[in-house]
Amino acid sequence: MGKILVVGNWKMHLNASQASLLLHRLQERIPIYKDVEVVLSPSMLTLQPLSVQLDRRKFRLAAQNAYFVDEGAFTGEVSFTMLRELVHYVIVGHSERRRYFHEDLDMVKQKVAASVRNDITPILCVGETKTERDDGETKQVLHDQLLSGLSNLTPAEVGNIVVAYEPVWAISDGTNFADHFIAKPQQVAEAVDYIRRYIKDVFNDKASREVRILYGGSAVPDIVQGFLDVPGVDGFLVGGASLNYHTFSSIIQACHRWQRGGKEDADA
Ligand code: PEP
Repeated sequence: MGKILVVGNWKMHLNASQASLLLHRLQERIPIYKDVEVVLSPSMLTLQPLSVQLDRRKFRLAAQNAYFVDEGAFTGEVSFTMLRELVHYVIVGHSERRRYFHEDLDMVKQKVAASVRNDITPILCVGETKTERDDGETKQVLHDQLLSGLSNLTPAEVGNIVVAYEPVWAISDGTNFADHFIAKPQQVAEAVDYIRRYIKDVFNDKASREVRILYGGSAVPDIVQGFLDVPGVDGFLVGGASLNYHTFSSIIQACHRWQRGGKEDADA
């Protein structure tokens, strides 16, 4: 595979000084890796100051959300256009936004399109709830989320985006991620295979090979190697574990070790 992609979603945690301190610690611990791309997704408030502090050889930034209209009377919103100089990525359609902020399929579709229009790579989150899995609806849910989320895109655009498979039942609340209900590699393998096959059928083979697919849901250092062995997994979207510099840097190191076939040396 190419570079492994690891995205740390800090959610609605850390004020400006806490975020700055966490970045400082991460910059101390994480060397420049050529085989792992590390992306930090702090709150909207701290994107700007962190962009100044950030060592760009080590990290890139992602916003956790943005609004799909480029400019206008939308009190409280920040557009993709406003973010284009600041971030490489925007997380779109996270299950917490779908659930708590009622983002429906159409809104997610418009956000993916706005992201691509503004030259920002969307990280489109898809995944089923526990009830949907229990009812055998996982593939249908993935189908519907991909159908709408990708519907405005060309095959070349689809090949450039990131899809994060995040089974909603495996996402932690940020405090209990270590022993949360993590997905099994086989379940992830089936979902990722479905996503790639969907993209191959609807777009083309190249898009299906080039789109990067992440696993997200209670990811911790111990699971990294096993999940990277799952065919088609290109990295991780990490929530709770990304708030702790020790745990997050261990995840990055584990990815680097996996790339080196298990060898320890941290070459840059
Ligand atoms: C997430 O919210 O995208 C996520 C994967 O969270 P966690 O790792 O805490 O389950």
